[in-house]
Order: sequence, then C-alpha cells, then structure tokens
Amino acid sequence: MRWQDEADVVVIGAGATGLPAAIVAREAGASVIVVEAEADIGGHAITSGGNVPLGGGTSVQHKHGIDDSPDLLFRDLTDWSIVEPNGFPDYRYNDREIVRAFADESAATFEWLLAHGVVFVDKAPDARGGNAVGNSVPREMHAAAMAWPTVQTGQPVDPDVAAITSSGNGLMRPLEVAARRAGVQIMLEHRMTSIYRETPAAGRILGIGVRSGADERAIRARKAVIIATGGSTGNLDFRRMFDPRLTEEYCGLAGMPWSDQDASGELAAMVVGASLWGLTNQSGEFGWPVTKPGLIGCQYNYTNLQWMPGSPVFHKARASGLRVKDWQNVILVNMLGRRFYDETGPHFTANNYGSVDPYVPLSYRNAENLAYDPNNWLNAALAGVGETRNGGGPIWAIFDAAAVAREAWDPQPPHVDTAAGFFFRANTLEELANAIAMPYQRTPMPAHHVQETVTRYNAFVTTGVDVDFGKPTPLYKVETPPFYAAWATPVIHDSRAGLRINANCQVIDVRGGVIPGLYCGGESAGGFSQHGLARALCQGLIAGRHAMTAG
Ligand SMILES: Cc1cc2nc3c(=O)[nH]c(=O)nc-3n(C[C@H](O)[C@H](O)[C@H](O)COP(=O)(O)OP(=O)(O)OC[C@H]3O[C@@H](n4cnc5c(N)ncnc54)[C@H](O)[C@@H]3O)c2cc1C
Repeated sequence: MRWQDEADVVVIGAGATGLPAAIVAREAGASVIVVEAEADIGGHAITSGGNVPLGGGTSVQHKHGIDDSPDLLFRDLTDWSIVEPNGFPDYRYNDREIVRAFADESAATFEWLLAHGVVFVDKAPDARGGNAVGNSVPREMHAAAMAWPTVQTGQPVDPDVAAITSSGNGLMRPLEVAARRAGVQIMLEHRMTSIYRETPAAGRILGIGVRSGADERAIRARKAVIIATGGSTGNLDFRRMFDPRLTEEYCGLAGMPWSDQDASGELAAMVVGASLWGLTNQSGEFGWPVTKPGLIGCQYNYTNLQWMPGSPVFHKARASGLRVKDWQNVILVNMLGRRFYDETGPHFTANNYGSVDPYVPLSYRNAENLAYDPNNWLNAALAGVGETRNGGGPIWAIFDAAAVAREAWDPQPPHVDTAAGFFFRANTLEELANAIAMPYQRTPMPAHHVQETVTRYNAFVTTGVDVDFGKPTPLYKVETPPFYAAWATPVIHDSRAGLRINANCQVIDVRGGVIPGLYCGGESAGGFSQHGLARALCQGLIAGRHAMTAG
C-alpha cells in the first residue's frame, strides 16, 4: 500500500458515534483522523432533537431522586415481556452483551458529555423523545440549544429559550469544539470508499480509502478504524433486505439532506468479512423506524425536522413543507387516488418510561395491561395498489382552499416543492389528478377515482360517519377550489440493525471471530433496538477507548 495520510486511529463519520470516539482516543494519546463525507460535522445527530436517554445512575438522576442503576437499565432494555399495543416486543431481540456494555457505560457517558461542554436543560430527566429507553424510570435528558446557529434555520434559537430548548446542535457543536481543541484532525468532504485488510478475509485492518472530489487517498490506521457512518436506511438495496416494501418512493429520509445513511460502512466492512446482526430490530414494528410524515408538500417531510430557507442545506431540501396541525383538514390517497386508512391514525408507538402501567418486570402479565391497537396507518400506506410491485407508491394529501385557510398555510414556494413535483394545485379535482406527474408516481392517477373518493368522503362528512376507515367524525368537505395535492409519503427514520459487534464494539466476522483493528458503533452497529443518540454516544466512547488497546 502507498499511504497518503496516517494516524493511530481513523474514524469514519463525524456524528454522534464518531466525535466521542475521536475525542476519547485522542485524549488517551492517539493521533486521530476523522473523515466525514459531508461539508460539515454532525450527521443525523446535529439535526436531532437532542433528547439523550442516558441513565443507569447519572448525577442528574441522583439530584432529582431517581433511583436508577446499570442493573436496572440492563433489565429494562432486555425485558422480553414489554410489548407495544400492536403486540411487537421492544427489547426481546436485543443482544445481551451489547446492552450490558451500554448499561454499564451509560451514566459515565452522560458525565463525559458534561465534561466536554454539552449543556443540558436544567430539569429532571423525563420521557420526552424516548424510543425503547426502558419502562422503569425517566432517563431522557435534553441537550440545550444554547447560542449555536441551528442547521435547520442557520440562526440560533431565540435567546429567551436557548437554555430550555432541546437540540442536536447543542450536543454536536460542543463536541466539535472539544475534538478540534484536543487535536483531532477532521477531514470534511472525504468519503470513505473502502476498508483495507491484510487479506480480503483475514489479518488486521490496515486503513481506509477515501474520495474527495477527484482525489483518491489511502489513510493508514496504525491501531484501528472505527466505523461511525450512521446506518443504512438511505441505501435502497440494503434497506430492502429487511423490508422489501421500502422501494425508491420512500425518499424523504429523516436527517437528509444534511447527511445520508448510505450503508457505506456496513458494505465496506462486509467486504472484509464482517457480519450483520440483530436484524429483527430493523423490521419490528416498535419505535419509529418508519414514520408518518408531519410535513406535506416537500420531499424531506419528517415530523421533527423542518428545513427553513436560512439552512446551509436548504438548496438541497428545496422546501420547508406545510405542517399538518389537524389531519381532519386533508384526505390521504394512494397513487390511484383511493383513500386507504383513517388520516388521523398514528404511526408505531415506542416503549418509554411509564408506557406499561402497572408494570411488573419480566412478567407476561404486562401484556394484559395493554389494549390491542395495531397502529396500521403505516402498513396501509405501504400496502401497495394490488400490482406485482413492492412499495405502496406515493401518498398524497388532497385538500381545498378552505383547509388552507383553516391551517393558515401559504401553499407556495419555499413552503412547498412544486419544481420537483412534490406539490400540485388545480382548479378542479380532475385537473389536479391529471397534473400529478413526478418520478415516483409510476402510473397516472385516474381523475374519476379522485372525484369518486372526494364525493364519498364528503358524504361521510354529511353523515358524520366514515364507514370505510372509521375516521372519527369527519369534519370538513373537500369542495372549495383551488384543490391541492401534497406529498405525504411515509418517512424512513433510523437503522436499528447493522454490523455485529461485541461489548468492546469490535466488529465480528461471519465466523464469530473479532476482526482485529475494526470497530463500529451507533446506527451502523446491530444488536440493539434503542433509537438514537444514547447508544451512539456511548458506543463511540467504548470504541474509541478500546481502539487504543488494539495491537
Ligand atoms: C431529525 C432527527 C431527529 C432525531 N432526534 C433524536 C433525539 O431527539 N434523540 C435521539 O436519541 N435520537 C435522535 N435521532 C437519532 C440520532 O440522531 C441518531 O441515532 C444518531 O445521530 C446516530 O449516530 P451515528 O453516529 O450512528 O450517525 P450520525 O450521527 O448520522 O453520523 C454519521 C456520520 O457519518 C458520515 N458518513 C456516512 N458515511 C460516510 C462515509 N462513507 N465516509 C465518511 N463519512 C460518512 C455521515 O455523513 C454522518 O456525518 C434523530 C434523528 C433524526 C434524523
């Protein structure tokens, strides 16, 4: 090999896993290079809500009299008896070794964040924003936005609420400062394209290949390579290994267009022998791996991430979307112009503090305390229209001028994306159906379907009963021109399956052996059903620390 750069530890990705890994390795004396594909650090973590479920006995839990411990956290996150109202178990398929390591390091990770400049909202841990964080005690902490400009708007939040607003910007910018201050070298716009091993399936990891524009470089890792690439949901073929329905129309991934989850870490590791792990956690219907949109009329329509014109990536997002305050104001139709479910239906739920109440740990009787509720909005949306093709096709919100007035929407750019075909307007329903043409609308929407659907729905408003889908008392007719069609297709949120790792975050090969010098954490790692930041931050620290011991 001819190497252009070298360091003791090479970290791929500057997100929630990568920056802590880099800082802790650097502080332990290693030289560290972080390569980041995008033009800025942060990954999905910087776009996140900054709700950080670290527990197991943090200083803040102690301060507020919350009795938590690593053992309790471990028991919570491996409690097979917890099920969602739809019958899916949150924790049953977690790898005990991975969860034990998380439980043991969780509180220390929180204190580490404090010591590295992250300010948390000064209040007791709660349950806000949690997804598979354990039923017994509150663990959710909130990184304060402080004065950092947000990636969503390009501006800091209002100073009056900066210390009480939870934001991923308040988590990741202090970590960037800490990394740079410690002497971590961050190479932005350098995308890892391959991982080098002594032989394709044996020996230690030697380094990585990266691309930056036309420049290809090889970076040697004297001790370790840490994969912190953030998961796989943006890779169409990869994500469809778990769920064949997730075809190309599911293009509104949460976190994009700030950064992608293109499975590049998983694929590069698999080329050198790595195994995948914990795959049930990806397709299990618990938490929010796939979500109902909260915004309509734009491609990137995740409910908790709205791109505003001041954002540095607004040219990629193209529109902010219209936030739906009341789903009574729209009807949702599939690509053939037919309704498919009660528009007000929710997406999947998630276990969180107090979700199961009363709760008897590890008792099958917990299920008796839940009313069965299959939460099928998503499954209906993804069901398809009876073709031999996978994927449900686009979902469109159809509404009229009266709905625009009730919601106080301004249905034009930059709020909606007319140029790329995520929003249409017409004076009649027939013209509206005929106008809907865009790459994912793979068959024209029959105008008479839309007309029939609206006529039938308006009759339900008259009677007050939706005999087709049980929407609770349909309130408003769709009858006042102009009429609108806004993109309302489900959003893929996060990866919960990935590379097989052990408690040290070392990557394991297909025969069960450690791949020397290769580590992984966060959404690219498998075995752990929990959503989000806590496991990523924690595994970053575990990987970065252990990487120093790699021969
Ligand atoms: C809108 C939104 C809100 C969220 N809110 C919360 C929340 O409130 N609480 C919570 O717990 N979780 C939340 N999450 C989830 C959380 O942000 C992620 O789980 C977490 O950031 C995952 O960390 P990671 O290190 O695995 O990936 P990321 O933080 O995404 O970092 C991965 C990085 O790797 C880079 N990368 C990828 N491939 C390459 C490559 N080939 N070469 C170089 N670099 C590469 C990416 O560009 C990215 O910067 C949210 C996610 C989103 C999208």
